[in-house]
Amino acid sequence: MSNVPKVSAYEIASRNFERAADLIDLTPEWRTLVRTPFREMKVEVPLYRDDGSFTTFSGYRIQHNGARGPFKGGIRFSSLVDEQEVKALAETMTYKTALVDIPFGGGKGGVNVNPPDLTDRELEHVTRRYISRIHLILGPNRDVPAPDMGTNAQTMAWIVDQYGRQHGYNPAVVTGKPLELGGSPGREQATGRGVMLITLAAAKDHLGKAPADLRIAVQGFGNVGMNAALLLAERGATVVAISDHTGGYHRAEGIDLEGAVAHVRREGGDRTLRGYDGADAVSADDFMGVDCDVLVPAAIEAAIHSDNVDSVQARLVVEGANLPVTPRADAALNDRGVIVVPDILANAGGVIVSYFEWSQNFQQYRWSEADVNDRLERILLKAYRDVAEKQEALGSTMREAAFALAIGRVVTAEKLRGAL
Ligand code: GLU
Repeated sequence: MSNVPKVSAYEIASRNFERAADLIDLTPEWRTLVRTPFREMKVEVPLYRDDGSFTTFSGYRIQHNGARGPFKGGIRFSSLVDEQEVKALAETMTYKTALVDIPFGGGKGGVNVNPPDLTDRELEHVTRRYISRIHLILGPNRDVPAPDMGTNAQTMAWIVDQYGRQHGYNPAVVTGKPLELGGSPGREQATGRGVMLITLAAAKDHLGKAPADLRIAVQGFGNVGMNAALLLAERGATVVAISDHTGGYHRAEGIDLEGAVAHVRREGGDRTLRGYDGADAVSADDFMGVDCDVLVPAAIEAAIHSDNVDSVQARLVVEGANLPVTPRADAALNDRGVIVVPDILANAGGVIVSYFEWSQNFQQYRWSEADVNDRLERILLKAYRDVAEKQEALGSTMREAAFALAIGRVVTAEKLRGAL
């Protein structure tokens, strides 16, 4: 497996764009205008470690397109972060917010730091240093970050505080905050909830299956994968396999998810599935090939690639992660009639509830969790139906239809503003 040529996030994003741009006959000028980021910022993030040693990280904030509203998108802390990855993820956010039709553009940030390597104090320091260097381009009506891989509500709390020191306290500058600091009920589960809603809708329409008939494999057991698995099981589906970067687990009768969550959260553990003994271990290479109806890649980019795509048994793939399927693997899945629900639809639940959080901050009024979940479902299923309609009209894949719709909306906004 290690000899598989690594396909970059940027290559995947480029292919997503070009395929849809061809379908809607976008001119070369418009392709350049839409694809080129509005602004890219790179900063140095120095840190004195607790042991006295000194190190530096690279931080990025890339504002891809703001034609439809303030730049919106998460901040990722991962040792794999680089400029090209952040750029691809920023562009993905532009189309995600356009597709679900919320009043935002797209952006993304990242620091090439591996959070498990740092203490909490060191992580707080890195977060504050990074924000103190990018704060000038942030703002509730300018650019609104959120959590992504390696960051969480605590990180957002440090950001709101650091931004507040320089601009005055304003919770609307970032979403995914703790409830106590203006976060929204339902935000933490929102991406997983969206994955669940989209999985059930697509399984009904394309596989003719009710929730209780579904066997699901979820790759990734972080915020997205864990919540998607729990909510799918709550609706009656059987989650037959789960995994994280430390290993995969399979149990045909269904994984005891409460047990897996307790394992991850246990005192003194490393917050991974490592050592989980409630199911049979599966190697990373074999995970994509487990027997199931639905496969949910909810971890990293390029997880399904040309070397493991032939083993995929699922008839439906739901992209919980951003950019998890390489172009060649995508073509192979399409050729075999496997339905792929693209990331900009499947995982949009998070940014939709980020929009609700931002709205609540401006209103200074908290909505109930039931209200949040209800509105999330309405917005997401409307986007799902819009994509189905577009797919029908274009005779395309779901991915091509979703990107065609989204790119079309960005172009319309640019034209209205008088961009070209
Ligand atoms: N990082 C998440 C994503 O990729 C959420 C972004 C947000 O809420 O702004 O969609």
